[in-house]
Amino acid sequence: MKKYKGIFFDWDGTAVLSRKAPADEAVAAMKGLLLQGVKLVIVSGTTYENIAGGKLEDYFTNEELGHLYLGLGRGAYNYQYEEGRPVVFEDRIPSREDLLRIHDAAYGIHRELLRDYGLPTEIVFLRPNYCKIDLMVENDRKDQLFMQENELDLLKKSLTAHGIQGGLHEMTALAVRMGEKYGMQLKATCDAKYLEVGISDKSDNVDVIMGELERKFGMQIGECCFWGDEFVGLEDGIYGSDSFMITDRTRGGDFFDVSSVSGARPEPVVPLGGGVERFLKFLWEQQKA
Ligand SMILES: [Mg+2]
Repeated sequence: MKKYKGIFFDWDGTAVLSRKAPADEAVAAMKGLLLQGVKLVIVSGTTYENIAGGKLEDYFTNEELGHLYLGLGRGAYNYQYEEGRPVVFEDRIPSREDLLRIHDAAYGIHRELLRDYGLPTEIVFLRPNYCKIDLMVENDRKDQLFMQENELDLLKKSLTAHGIQGGLHEMTALAVRMGEKYGMQLKATCDAKYLEVGISDKSDNVDVIMGELERKFGMQIGECCFWGDEFVGLEDGIYGSDSFMITDRTRGGDFFDVSSVSGARPEPVVPLGGGVERFLKFLWEQQKA
């Protein structure tokens, strides 16, 4: 396999099995590459506290941290390290007024789904620039935060049973319509269980960090690869959260999916399967490549 200079990867379900699983194996596989100066970029929907217990910097030396970047919070925050401390170098944080508009839109979605279809939902308001709406409140993922094999089918069945014929398209269209109602241009994504409604997504993270790597190191997109476990198409034309790493700017990179979920993936994605183990094996191989 070719030697990459920039490796972008999802965290939950790609580098670690679950948020609460120890990060040691991922860290061990990352260290050697960072020492070689390979740029590693964690791209995750979660926030800094949820990566390795919020103590990721404790696992690495300052020298290693100099080559590590994080794009977190679904496009909200982009981090690099300065003298071993995480520093946000670019963000997409709305004003409080705009954040409340996003909350209004999320509640509007909840209200319309319950009023017109009897579909109960639950909203997480605590995210910095989006809301997370649980469309399947009865299906608990427990500690496994990544998409489960049968969730798509369960969601489609549930939507149909509630009289929603347009599936996920109808959910994302509802989100965009509700955003317009409250004066916000919203981006909506759906990974089956969760409809996420906000002003940025993983595409903002990879574009910002790729721009930084180009500017600082002259990195070319052909020298980069992108790994995730949620590329699979949920419906015609709607793909999972990691597919947002594919942008006009990053399309020339190599994309790999470690999930074994069956279904359509966006065109450039190579399905490998093998889960976390497959990705960590790749990191070890890259050290010797
Ligand atoms: Mg994942």
